[in-house]
Amino acid sequence: MFVFLPLFGAPATASDSAADTSENKKAELPRVAIVTTGGTIAEKVGCGSAGAVPAVSGSALVQSVPGLSDIARIEVTDLMNEDSSQMKPSDWLHLHCIVRHILDREEISGVVVTHGTDTMAEAAFLLDVLLTSNKPVVFTGAMRTASDAGSDGPGNLLNAVRQVLLSSDRNWGVTVTLNGYINAARSARKTQTTNVQTFTSGEKGYLGYLYDGQLVQFNQPAQRVQVELTGNHSATPPYIPILKDYSGSDGRFIRHALETGAQGIVVEGVGAGNVNRETYQAMLEAKKRGLPVVIATRVPNGSVEPVYGDEGGGAALKKAGVILAGDLPAEKARLLLMVGLMRYGNDPGKLNALFGELYR
Ligand code: ASP
Repeated sequence: MFVFLPLFGAPATASDSAADTSENKKAELPRVAIVTTGGTIAEKVGCGSAGAVPAVSGSALVQSVPGLSDIARIEVTDLMNEDSSQMKPSDWLHLHCIVRHILDREEISGVVVTHGTDTMAEAAFLLDVLLTSNKPVVFTGAMRTASDAGSDGPGNLLNAVRQVLLSSDRNWGVTVTLNGYINAARSARKTQTTNVQTFTSGEKGYLGYLYDGQLVQFNQPAQRVQVELTGNHSATPPYIPILKDYSGSDGRFIRHALETGAQGIVVEGVGAGNVNRETYQAMLEAKKRGLPVVIATRVPNGSVEPVYGDEGGGAALKKAGVILAGDLPAEKARLLLMVGLMRYGNDPGKLNALFGELYR
């Protein structure tokens, strides 16, 4: 559902010229689109439910933010209202189409997407890979529900709109912005389960900080990795499970994935991207079947590097044709492989080149 919200308060009378001037000024404010998808920012604890559940419409969410109408003309697209643990890649591909069409409109300064924080970093990364516009796209949400005292949702939404207005010339791509801190989509990680200060960028650092209507820049994001999807991609995206390596893992889940239709796999290894012998053997079986296999790591900083040459070491994996995930955590590597397969098909050269861009 699409709603245009002028949000200008009570209409002015024709005789009130001061009010007229103020209305005219507001009519000249930049236009920012807000696409709402759900998450804690739109949830409330209601009677009868076991906990917080989706409860607030996109328009109501925007109406709850004091001061928003003084800085921008807001358009709301009430796309869905889901906890982000329910989001599927197909939802994000659809979201990407909606955002792309909005960005194509010249009069739009940028887009804010409200989203649950649980999978926000993945969603933001996928849109960062797919969108080509230079206009700001800001993901935000909340850690406290709309019914909590001290809910962080309204402040985060106001900051997100401010960021759109203040960062039009920065070419930051898609960001994850909560609690004033701005993270590049590629490096954003949720790091605290319940605290409002949850998203960080690890060793890459925040891009910047928003406070009192000002934006302070700290860093530049890494070069964006981009995949251009053309045509209609409403079909089910390729099935790519993530398998975790751990002490004593024996590859049985990888074999199960191969037997149940995986079109590619991502293995979350240890250290610089290493797995044990048994997992390595199962990964070789996947390679023999012609599947693209990506190795990521459980370590939050640094990147996968071909250091170790023993059975399962990163160098041995690379030699066997396994694709290295760079600095992407497994869940983001999976999305990159997904759109890589959608764009290029199962072409090892092109998929390797795509992931190779993470090392530029
Ligand atoms: N479970 C919620 C979600 O991701 C958490 C949040 O939004 O903060 O939708």
